[in-house]
Amino acid sequence: MAQIPDIKYTKLFINNEFVDAVSKKTFPVENPANGETVAYIAEGDKADVDRAVTAAKAAFARGSKWRSMDASARGMLMHKLADLLMRDIKELAALETLDNGKPYTESLIDIQCSVYVFRYFAGYCDKIHGNTIPSDGNYFALTRKEPVGVVGQVIPWNYPLLMLTWKWGPALAAGCTIVLKPAEQTPLTALATAALTKEAGFPPGVINIIPGYGPTAGAALCSHPDVRKVAFTGSTDIGHKIMEYSAASNLKSVSLELGGKSPLVIMNDADIDEAVEIAFNAIFANHGQNCCAGSRTFVQSGIYDEFVKKATIKAKARKIGNPFEEGVEHGPLIDKLQFEKVLRMIDSGRPQGAKLETGGKQWGSTGYYVEPTVFSNVTDEMTIAKEEIFGPVQSILKFDTLEEVIERANNTPYGLASGIITKNINDAMTYAQAIEAGSVWINCYDAITPQTPFGGYKKSGFGRDLGEDSLKDYLVTKTISIKVPTKN
Ligand code: NAD
Repeated sequence: MAQIPDIKYTKLFINNEFVDAVSKKTFPVENPANGETVAYIAEGDKADVDRAVTAAKAAFARGSKWRSMDASARGMLMHKLADLLMRDIKELAALETLDNGKPYTESLIDIQCSVYVFRYFAGYCDKIHGNTIPSDGNYFALTRKEPVGVVGQVIPWNYPLLMLTWKWGPALAAGCTIVLKPAEQTPLTALATAALTKEAGFPPGVINIIPGYGPTAGAALCSHPDVRKVAFTGSTDIGHKIMEYSAASNLKSVSLELGGKSPLVIMNDADIDEAVEIAFNAIFANHGQNCCAGSRTFVQSGIYDEFVKKATIKAKARKIGNPFEEGVEHGPLIDKLQFEKVLRMIDSGRPQGAKLETGGKQWGSTGYYVEPTVFSNVTDEMTIAKEEIFGPVQSILKFDTLEEVIERANNTPYGLASGIITKNINDAMTYAQAIEAGSVWINCYDAITPQTPFGGYKKSGFGRDLGEDSLKDYLVTKTISIKVPTKN
């Protein structure tokens, strides 16, 4: 069993120092496995955001250490940070599990993936460049890709450190400075990583962290007139608000990675055991608290009954328990609010005609555990088929033809991810081209890597995390035209 970690960092991180909130207020952070408070964290608000943005602005000023550093040296700093994350991987993973409730082995994977993300973007630092352009007239024209400036980043609680690295990676590679607000449920690994940025040698003010609540610290950050760009991951409702803050303040650019109701389609010709396994991981990974969760499992009629039987057996076998215990695969949901919301959604299933195959209730009597739940006979108009549950609930729907399932899969306001399992390449490619989603996974699911862009269509947002595309959100293009005496 992994060790319960010490919590060393509980304050705001501004200008490379841990400081109290101006108000001196704190807020509790709890362990979702038992509901106990594990720490009180400094509660940032507008005055603290102002301080952090001032620090980030100074770090970005002309002639600052950060602005005049070689791009390759920026890359070395990011590699150093990745080294330190690896050095502290066990401690960070334990903090993540304490804070978020995900199994310790999953937290280890999250930290390892965070390291890969930093290394990928570290390599980009000195490879970001503009073009020379054959402009009309007697001009020599070129473009420079410049960092956008101070960026505000607001992230959720489902992958606390990984979401931080998805946001920091391209921002640092581009040369921006950062004020990040972690989710109020999960600030611990962000603060521990802040200490590592100082140890790695990032200049003061390049990275600042303001824990606190959304409507206070989050809104202040997204409304700040000196923040040039906001990157947000979270709910679609708050995504709307982020756009409003930008419109009402300085028209800062915005990228949004929001919710989803992602379809995974399983055709008759699929290897059924493999398909059950892929679909299972697609929905139950991270207890379903995953924006791209395969939360609509569409199974073709020829294999539907067998698939439901096997999916149910698999869900029943899932090992639930203390996330620090070895072998545990399924921990608690993040908090009481999500726990109650997920149970409410589950309760809507049966009266609307779905068949509960397994699960459907709290596991144990303490903590926010919900059993892995499988519904069959789910139809498109049911709440569990339409709304994002963000919990361990597999909804299995039946379809007959590819054309029918494409139409039904697209019939959602969301468009984050999707998958298809088939041996028929023509069916796979027809689906891949027709589906309105930012990612299409063929014969796999959640194939998310540092190199491949990730983001939404429709109400799942816009802009991309990861991959080369993500850098664009942190860069502005400057055109420089030089008068020349003659063309040659
Ligand atoms: P949320 O959108 O309320 O919170 C996400 C982040 O936004 C947090 O850091 C929060 O403090 C901040 N925030 C909240 N209100 C804000 C505001 N007015 N201004 C600025 N920042 C604000 O999401 P949640 O309450 O944590 O979860 C609710 C639902 O969101 C979930 O059920 C799920 O549907 C969705 N969600 C999606 C993702 C994702 O990865 N896309 C992650 C977590 C939650």
